[in-house]
Amino acid sequence: MSMAGKRVVILGATGSIGDTTFRVLDNLGDEFRVVGLSAGDRVEQLVRRARACKPEAVCIADGAQVEGVRSQLPGVRVLSGPEGLSQLAALDGADVVVNGLVGAVGLRPTLEALKAGKTVAMANKEPLVMAGGLVLQAAAEGGGALLPVDSEPNAMWQCLRGESASAVRSLFLTASGGAFRGWTREQMITVTPAQALDHPTWRMGSKITVDCATLMNKGFEVIEASLLFDVDIDQVKVVVHRESVVHSMVEFVDGAILAHLGKTDMSLPIQYALTHPKRRPAPMDTLDLVGLGALHFEEPDLLAFPALELCYEAGRTGGTAPAVLNAADEVAVEGFLRGEIGFLDIHEVNRHTLGAHIPGPADSLAEVLAADEEGRRLAREHVTVVRGMPSGRAT
Ligand code: MG
Repeated sequence: MSMAGKRVVILGATGSIGDTTFRVLDNLGDEFRVVGLSAGDRVEQLVRRARACKPEAVCIADGAQVEGVRSQLPGVRVLSGPEGLSQLAALDGADVVVNGLVGAVGLRPTLEALKAGKTVAMANKEPLVMAGGLVLQAAAEGGGALLPVDSEPNAMWQCLRGESASAVRSLFLTASGGAFRGWTREQMITVTPAQALDHPTWRMGSKITVDCATLMNKGFEVIEASLLFDVDIDQVKVVVHRESVVHSMVEFVDGAILAHLGKTDMSLPIQYALTHPKRRPAPMDTLDLVGLGALHFEEPDLLAFPALELCYEAGRTGGTAPAVLNAADEVAVEGFLRGEIGFLDIHEVNRHTLGAHIPGPADSLAEVLAADEEGRRLAREHVTVVRGMPSGRAT
């Protein structure tokens, strides 16, 4: 660590993870310094952020806007596009990269950062789902570290500190149950995007909120946790916990279960990833256990939420299967949010796409990207098939 504190790059600086990261960093003072920021299309917000924290470099999605941003941020290096994002992730002198990107776009920058030996605080789960082996390999080879910021794996990581994978019997991944906990498939036929976007306990971006409603997000976390903590995918168990207070649990071979509890506030996992092994006062209220009174745990309804089993299936198959499922889901959720397909059709598109793909090895970036492309193509084709049909007629 330099005298000026740890140097931080924030990818996805104008999204919900970015906002929370700034809140955490403001609270930590000069222990950290922001040296790089990226944004997609919220360019004005990025410029405002950059004026306040004075980074060395920023990256925007659209190359046509580079000159405009440069004129507003004199002295700041302005990058653009996927190439710029990878350069920013590997920025010289940066210590920590907070990856708050959404979707497959985060894969290359994650690999570049890890290869360059950075610590990556990872909120973006898709790179791990798509190419877990490659991401772990990049971390091992580059000497970088991969720290989970997603609240559930972050909770497991905290419970697992000082323990070995062989001491673990099960990882209990908690799920709020999403917006439709307790609903039947019949009831979900007419679900609208507005209903799916109304998450009971967490405030997040739209793709991940829909994934919470289908439990696809939970399924991806199953894959993520098995990779991060090197356990068999069937050792990862999902338990519905509607209070979202227990962020996950680890059961050890002796029967002891350690749980991580806290407020449903992303500043907790983000800050721990930045300051660990130290703990600092966090910019949030404390959890009122007595006010809470009771905690509830239920079995997930696998018939109403078949996305979960689909993720186990893809995880057991391994290779390119998870990358294809991830690609299909991005296309399907987009189709749902645009009103092209119904809520239940998201699963139909995912299931069909995974079934149509012949899995192969995912040992190179080229293989993963080809699988991603194939998954998107197959899913788009199936979205157009499903479109004209009455919603909910499937499975
Ligand atoms: Mg999560």
